[in-house]
Amino acid sequence: MNVLVTGGAGYIGAHTCVALLEAGHTVIVADNLCNSKVESINKVQQITNKDLTFYEIDTTDEKAVDTIFSNHEIDGVIHFAGLKAVGESVENPLAYYYNNLVGTMVLIKACQKYGVNRFVFSSSATVYGDNRVPFVETMDLLPTTNPYGETKAMSERILTDIANANPVFSVSILRYFNPVGAHESGLIGEAPNGIPNNLMPYVTQVAKGKLEKLRVFGNDYPTVDGTGVRDYIHVLDLAEGHVAALENLTEGVHVYNLGTGKGTSVLELVKAFEGANDIEVPYEIANRRPGDIASCYADASKAKRELGWTAKHDLISMCRDAWQFEKNYKE
Ligand code: NAD
Ligand code: UDP
Repeated sequence: MNVLVTGGAGYIGAHTCVALLEAGHTVIVADNLCNSKVESINKVQQITNKDLTFYEIDTTDEKAVDTIFSNHEIDGVIHFAGLKAVGESVENPLAYYYNNLVGTMVLIKACQKYGVNRFVFSSSATVYGDNRVPFVETMDLLPTTNPYGETKAMSERILTDIANANPVFSVSILRYFNPVGAHESGLIGEAPNGIPNNLMPYVTQVAKGKLEKLRVFGNDYPTVDGTGVRDYIHVLDLAEGHVAALENLTEGVHVYNLGTGKGTSVLELVKAFEGANDIEVPYEIANRRPGDIASCYADASKAKRELGWTAKHDLISMCRDAWQFEKNYKE
């Protein structure tokens, strides 16, 4: 298939481009590089020894998006392009609603104009809100605590309404749990700008000595050791999940959790990282972070049943690969 990957220079997008190329698909990337560098495109080509086509464009730019659809016979779209920093979305909600919603609608419009009927969308477990774990696709969604989460819930709704009105439009909504890790080559991985918000990049930067110590946000949650529990998933498994979703897409709207089904606490992750890499990660217990929930992990059985997909990498390989990338990474 000829696959348009928006946000393909980013963290999950680049790993998915590798998986698509390795599965024999042709890849066209559209990315404005607002949170990534063009080098990741070169690295994808280096890892796979295959070429892809890259457009530096904004997905909210209707004309630029139209040009891509008229230049290529696109069979399917995987839409990663979006802003994703929760705190920033609270400070600048308009940027988030505009970028994430308009970008999605511009792409759907182009799909309708050019008869492209396969659409895979990056959603997030954040749409479940503070539900009972494990999270199942059939649950009623609860309000999210920030504009970023709302853009995911709204995009899901927009895609669902459009698919319902136009039954040949096939949509796969993928709700990611916590993507971590990197390609085993160490060439592509997660390189956030500034001080990381997420746990794994923070841990790798503490291990490297770039940051002094980890602050563990709360140890009084009703969990195994009081610290927050999440479902960490290796980005390579997540990338494979996109290939499976695209290749198995049938008419209608399909929602899948992409997680391992296993919850890990902050302290369990720190211990696993130290053990996997034989390196110390100093930490202190700090206050809870506003908006955090105690536990979030997936019921991942639907993706297994319908897509034949399950996560294969364990926490140790997530920790090893994340560290391997950070060790080699130069700003
Ligand atoms: P990322 O920031 O590394 O990648 C996103 C890419 O999209 C970047 O390369 C950025 O330059 C590009 N982009 C953003 N806005 C754009 C626009 N208007 N036009 C063109 N390009 C644009 O983020 P990621 O972690 O790879 O996340 C990919 C997707 O998955 C996002 O939609 C994100 O919300 C979603 N998601 C991520 C996580 C996570 O923890 N990483 C969890 C759940 C969902
Ligand atoms: N966390 C932490 N210190 C940090 C970053 C995160 O203790 O510096 C905790 C956070 O409270 C949560 C877990 O690690 O329990 C995962 O947080 P992350 O931001 O990576 O993902 P999300 O909260 O979006 O699931």
